[in-house]
Amino acid sequence: MAGMMQHWELRVSGLIDFAAREHGAQEIVSRVADGTVVRTNWAGVRNDALRMVQALRRLGLAPGDRVATLAMNHARHLVSWYGATGAGCVLHTINPRLFDDQLEFIVNHAEDRVMLYDRAFQPIIDRMKPHWPTIEHYICFDAETAAQESAFDQCLGAEDGDATWTSGDERDPCMLCYTSGTTGDPKGVLYEHRSTMLHTLAVVAPSALNLEARSVMLPVVPMFHANSWGIPFACAATGAKLVFSQVNDPAWWVGLSNAENVTHFAGVPTIWFGLLKYLDETGEKMSGVRHGFTGGAAMPRSIVERLMREGMRVVHAWGMTETSPFGTSNYEKPGWDDLSFDEQVSLRTMQGYGIYGSEVRIVDLDDPATVLPRDGTSAGALQVRGHWTVNRYLKADADATDADGWFATGDVAVMHPDGAMQLTDRTKDVIKSGGEWISSVELENAAVGHPAVAEAAAIGVPHPRWDERPLLVVVCETGQAVAAEELRAFLADKVAKWWLPDAIEFVDEIPHTGTGKISKKDLRKQFADYRLPDAAT
Ligand code: AMP
Repeated sequence: MAGMMQHWELRVSGLIDFAAREHGAQEIVSRVADGTVVRTNWAGVRNDALRMVQALRRLGLAPGDRVATLAMNHARHLVSWYGATGAGCVLHTINPRLFDDQLEFIVNHAEDRVMLYDRAFQPIIDRMKPHWPTIEHYICFDAETAAQESAFDQCLGAEDGDATWTSGDERDPCMLCYTSGTTGDPKGVLYEHRSTMLHTLAVVAPSALNLEARSVMLPVVPMFHANSWGIPFACAATGAKLVFSQVNDPAWWVGLSNAENVTHFAGVPTIWFGLLKYLDETGEKMSGVRHGFTGGAAMPRSIVERLMREGMRVVHAWGMTETSPFGTSNYEKPGWDDLSFDEQVSLRTMQGYGIYGSEVRIVDLDDPATVLPRDGTSAGALQVRGHWTVNRYLKADADATDADGWFATGDVAVMHPDGAMQLTDRTKDVIKSGGEWISSVELENAAVGHPAVAEAAAIGVPHPRWDERPLLVVVCETGQAVAAEELRAFLADKVAKWWLPDAIEFVDEIPHTGTGKISKKDLRKQFADYRLPDAAT
């Protein structure tokens, strides 16, 4: 017997239709590059997106064609998301911080036909143009002066918005993001309308983004990084207000938060560091934010604790470009209120629980066929599968998953009996000492708890007896210092004794990847010839 309910293809244009119909007057506020605050609303975004559909058709783009953006967060960028996907095209968001060889590779690999970009990235465009033969149209989002109309606005201005979305199958592609690729070439993750819609419907819940029509969200997560965690879709699905800061500056975030009554703020740990430093230095407050979201990298306990003391619900999520990106989220389980404050901080520092639609497990690091128990001690390779997990990278010959759909994340985690997942490392970064694993992440987290430490990275260096021993590389806070022995003593009661670093080196800067994460690969290169003080023993 067949089911008898209506079937509508799950397409992201349904989100903007809903937002415009039910929450049309809800504002989308952007502080743009020249410092001015520009306002539109969900109805305006829909109208502009429809005009962009017409403009893309006029340029000869067909469903499935790729439209690239090289842009920070602002409403025009948002319009391009709904416009490109509404025309059936694939919106390819590009991280402007990638290195030139990566920029060249991904644009050619994706065969992008249109490039929409912020004027701030004009030097990248000028440099890369000769290397991007597939791009036929370059359209700048912002004008040279406030009095002028931007190329993007001109393009839209030539259209009347009297159009319909391109219809199609819910499994058609809609967005494209490349992973930063710590080894080899970047890989393209091609999101589908259906996977994006299911992700959206799941992450609006209290167990993830906790959004509703009264929420005001400031995502400092870039729109080019894993679809800004899906926030621009989730806000449309709930009618929430979106606030964008085109420039990454704590003064802008705080100013916008207070002026626009921001309730939800999302950023990677580096953003939170920068924000708290700014608040400390200026004495300003950002008191309306009740929900703080973090993910993308390990969040130090000291920061989680500080935010919680300020009354914020700190939601710590784990995910990847390959998982759209929500994989797990740190929500409260029954009994939460009975936990002590310290216990709550400990749970918040972990990466949280599975959410419906995304399943995680750990397997033996040397034997992936052995699934490890959720016992709170076994560390294993983290695998994930679900409705919005990648199946195969763009143009790859084979699936990226095993026969049961499990995707090997490259992360190492411990699963606790209550289901909480705690990331301990990357498979390539764990330090193997005397046959036992040392978590570089836990060492780093403990080190940044010291007030003089701004950033820390632990790597394994060869040791004749133990195979590898940890070297801790530290950047101190401006104007502060700590002696290596003092730092070792500080770490002594925070990690196992045999985890304590054999050496601590102080540097001015730790290398980062194009997505702002510590580049262990480059750090290992930097310390390739390093000899530990007692390595001769
Ligand atoms: P990306 O695809 O660039 O977002 O990178 C995904 C990787 O970021 C994951 O595989 C993890 O190694 C790391 N990551 C994401 N979320 C967290 C988190 N909450 N804590 C620690 N590392 C994280």
